[in-house]
Amino acid sequence: MARAALMDFDKALELFEPVIGLEVHVELNTTTKMFSSAPNPANSAFHDAAPNTLITPVCLGLPGSLPVVNEQAIRSSISLGLALGCSIAESSRFARKNYFYPDLAKNYQISQYDEPIAFDGEVEVELENGRIFQVPIERAHMEEDAGKLTHIGGATGRIQGAEYSLVDYNRAGVPLVEIVTRPIFGAEADAPALASAYVSIIRDIALSLGISEARMERGNLRCDANVSLRPRGAEKLGTRTETKNVNSFRSIERAVRYEIQRQAAILADGGSITQETRHWHEDTGTTSAGRPKSDADDYRYFPEPDLLPVVPSPELIEQLRAELPEPPAARRRRLKAEWGFTDIDFQGVVNSNLLVEVTETVAAGATPAAARKWWTGELARIANAQNVDAASLASPAHVAELAGLVEAGTLTDRLARQVLEGVIAGEGSPQQIVDARGLAVVSDDSALIAAIDQALASQPDVLEKIRDGKVQAAGAVIGAVMKAMQGKADAARVRELVLERATAQ
Ligand code: ADP
Ligand code: MG
Repeated sequence: MARAALMDFDKALELFEPVIGLEVHVELNTTTKMFSSAPNPANSAFHDAAPNTLITPVCLGLPGSLPVVNEQAIRSSISLGLALGCSIAESSRFARKNYFYPDLAKNYQISQYDEPIAFDGEVEVELENGRIFQVPIERAHMEEDAGKLTHIGGATGRIQGAEYSLVDYNRAGVPLVEIVTRPIFGAEADAPALASAYVSIIRDIALSLGISEARMERGNLRCDANVSLRPRGAEKLGTRTETKNVNSFRSIERAVRYEIQRQAAILADGGSITQETRHWHEDTGTTSAGRPKSDADDYRYFPEPDLLPVVPSPELIEQLRAELPEPPAARRRRLKAEWGFTDIDFQGVVNSNLLVEVTETVAAGATPAAARKWWTGELARIANAQNVDAASLASPAHVAELAGLVEAGTLTDRLARQVLEGVIAGEGSPQQIVDARGLAVVSDDSALIAAIDQALASQPDVLEKIRDGKVQAAGAVIGAVMKAMQGKADAARVRELVLERATAQ
């Protein structure tokens, strides 16, 4: 495949105005699926189930099976709609979206079409550079997920060239909310960053509502990014492409940027953009053509005859509204001020997607500085190296306990890092690991003094220098003592005692 020509990003923005539109799918973490009693794999309790074990006749579309709406999913969807500033429909309907694909056993997906549960919202997004956007939300509707295909053989893991494909229906029927923005204007050079910051805010909202695990790498949160360009001064919107399922925040930003540069090169060359889906390739940082997509794609939508309309009572809506958490943008501003963080420190936490973890660690008793240090300094680094989420390595409660042990002088930073290794290895709580591995700092002066006297006796020249007032010479003795104590001593206290003993002898 020939690599597409790209126009320089700044040049592209001189000639064209970028317009973006984002579709985000949020998998709800309800106990059971959208329309059946099958356990929901988007709930952490069922993550690791073997293929085709979380299924009922409804998930497989077997004859005679009928869907039943999951009340918990309706509540979660309403809460999410309210948090997005949407109006909630007095009555909304499910619809059948008809198409054939082997991951969809019924040959139709139950979705919502002309009557979504939530519509007309707005979400505030603040970028790193301080620009604030009100992103307009067109709709948020409920639907069910399809199963998962795994293509075997062939080079790319894609269906083209595969020898055969496996299908796992565990995901079939997982409750989803699809959030669709209106076209977003005026972001200009910030369009790529806005796209990723917006999805990050959606993640914050979902997590603070507790309605989704919202992990992009697991597909709990999926983003399709629509991008079009129009010549400067033009009124009419350009033709858009829709880059599918970009599965990290960084990739969203890169994919939007790439599409702007790719489309600009084509348009400037007198070409035209094909309305199509595109696939993002993480390894090459490029997109490639998927399937053509017209606005008139005919899915033969019609009202789902097996389900009644959803008519939430005004009391339920008001109750859920009263239970809404603080809006994420406001919450971010408040936390930053409360924690006394600089812009850089705070963005470091937000960008590594550890705001929730740091908040919970502070709530569990750690100082904000310690919480930030252990999460973004240590755990994020280890997580990167292992290619996992920092959140999967340790719990906020354990990190807070670790920070407490350091604060109390039971652990030095160095020892705390060893304890953290134990926590990650699943050896228990920090205190249990300190006890089991004997890692606590020796705070008993007599043990330290014994080691100091021995070190001084074996380095008489150093002893001499200290007595002559050359206190820098104490470093060699302190090092020897720390070594003898296997690092389990507070270096500052050792230093005090070394000076005391040297002059006392
Ligand atoms: P589809 O069925 O193609 O997924 P949706 O209505 O679900 O359509 O989503 C289309 C998305 O693309 C919306 O976010 C919408 O705002 C956005 N969009 C529509 N037209 C344009 C355009 N010309 N440029 C950029 N984004 C657009
Ligand atoms: Mg769509």
